[in-house]
Amino acid sequence: MTAAYDVIVIGSGPAGYVCAIRCAQLGKKVAVVEQWADDKGKPVLGGTCLNVGCIPSKALLDSSHKFLEAKEHFSDHGIGLGDPQINVATMMQRKDQIVGQLTGGVAGLLKHNQIDVVQGRGKLLANRKVEVQAPDGSEAVYEAENIVLAAGSLPIDIPVAPVDQVHIVDSTGALVFDAVPERLGVIGAGVIGLELGSVWGRLGAEVVLLEAMDSFLPSMDAQIAKEGQKLFKKQGLDIRLGARVTGSEVVDGKVHVNYATGDETHTEIFDRLIVSVGRRAQTGELFAEDSGVTMDERGCVFVNDVCSTEAPGVWAIGDMVRGPMLAHKGSEEGVMVAEQIAGHHHPLNYDLIPSIIYTHPEIAGVGKTEQELKAEGVKFKVGTFPFAAIGRALAAGDSDGMIKIIADENTDQLLGAHCVGPSAADLVQQLLIAMEFGSSAEDIQMMVFGHPTLSEAVHEAALAVDGKAIHMANRKKR
Ligand code: FAD
Ligand code: AMP
Repeated sequence: MTAAYDVIVIGSGPAGYVCAIRCAQLGKKVAVVEQWADDKGKPVLGGTCLNVGCIPSKALLDSSHKFLEAKEHFSDHGIGLGDPQINVATMMQRKDQIVGQLTGGVAGLLKHNQIDVVQGRGKLLANRKVEVQAPDGSEAVYEAENIVLAAGSLPIDIPVAPVDQVHIVDSTGALVFDAVPERLGVIGAGVIGLELGSVWGRLGAEVVLLEAMDSFLPSMDAQIAKEGQKLFKKQGLDIRLGARVTGSEVVDGKVHVNYATGDETHTEIFDRLIVSVGRRAQTGELFAEDSGVTMDERGCVFVNDVCSTEAPGVWAIGDMVRGPMLAHKGSEEGVMVAEQIAGHHHPLNYDLIPSIIYTHPEIAGVGKTEQELKAEGVKFKVGTFPFAAIGRALAAGDSDGMIKIIADENTDQLLGAHCVGPSAADLVQQLLIAMEFGSSAEDIQMMVFGHPTLSEAVHEAALAVDGKAIHMANRKKR
């Protein structure tokens, strides 16, 4: 036995490192175990999110958006640039620099909070002991009053498209292409497929997304998803629904992909193929059989609503437990668990976790969708407002999309907020705050919104709930 801690966290992603920091703030002696190392053998902190997820994908989304703006829209403002060129190596260096800055920031925060980083692969044993296998193969056992499992998730592999990270890549491989592929296939038109498809599409690739399901983004509000689908089509993304990939083969450096739509079979040839069909919890060899930890039917670590596993003093958070695989969900679970370890009551409102797709325009939603409310038999009223009637959106040349607010027909309480449009994520977040406070549509109607802002769309949509929007012809009158 080498050291005893109050808390050992396995995994330094956004769930694990946030939990560790909050535990330390609450006076606990904390260690974080992380297995990921760079090519010099130094620990890589920040997990999927910082290294191969949220942050690098957003860096590439922003670079490719600027490229497209320069190419297609700067001339509208009278700015002539000739024919802009993309230097993929520079774009990648910029992305890597941002990742380095943030992962270095996490290392600094852990140090500042006097959290030990233990390098190696952690495994939970019985009685709250953690065995860590260091990169040199040596093993040490640590113990703590509380153990937090935060080992995250991995991309799902499908046998019909085995990833070689050269021709057929997963999301990690799609973040390090050295050139823009001429023809890019993407399996799965979910969040990651749409974001990565957009990056390379904006830079000039012809992008085809093959999606097995018949409906587009079924977990989003159907009206917003439909509007998004229309806009992506306009942008040139070829989204084929009901297209189930059945096989693939690399021939002379090209990827031949077979897929079925109903009874028909088809073949497409791509320069590169991204497999983005979802992620699975990373639970392999994470805990011993006698540790007391159990799994749920979806292959996640089983936890209750406050992230306690079935083993006393063992918690699990983030992508490896039920709920959406989102960085902000994991981080807030990390805070919730830290507070409980310190003896505080700190529940998390799982009903108000925002979903965001960082395409352009963004798609974001929180709370109930119209189709969910219909299925539940709840009576509701809806207000929508188009960005085409928002002065600031027009001034920015960014006026595609709409915002939608759903309120209870009887109580007027806000039930859902959904948006496809410029800064959708930030606009929906405003409504999330209101929903946390139990606001009604009328509360938003009576607030003063700065002019000219995109936020005026929030105000107008709330007014539209009762047929009172000023800058459009209302269908219902009040
Ligand atoms: P992870 O971030 O996966 O971290 C787990 C850590 O645990 C890793 O560092 C791993 O090495 C370590 N580990 C695992 N097993 C062990 C072990 N036995 N011993 C020691 N260490 C171990 N989410 C958003 O909210 N917004 C986005 O915009 C977004 N974009 C994304 C884009 C892409 C391309 C991808 C792939 C994901 C994206 N996500 C996004 C999802 C987000 O990255 C994850 O939800 C988040 O990283 C999960 O956090 P986590 O801490 O649970 O796990
Ligand atoms: P997400 O979980 O948001 O990343 O989305 C993954 C998407 O991949 C889902 O919409 C799945 O329907 C889709 N998918 C999974 N397997 C296949 C397949 N073999 N062919 C086409 N699409 C698939």
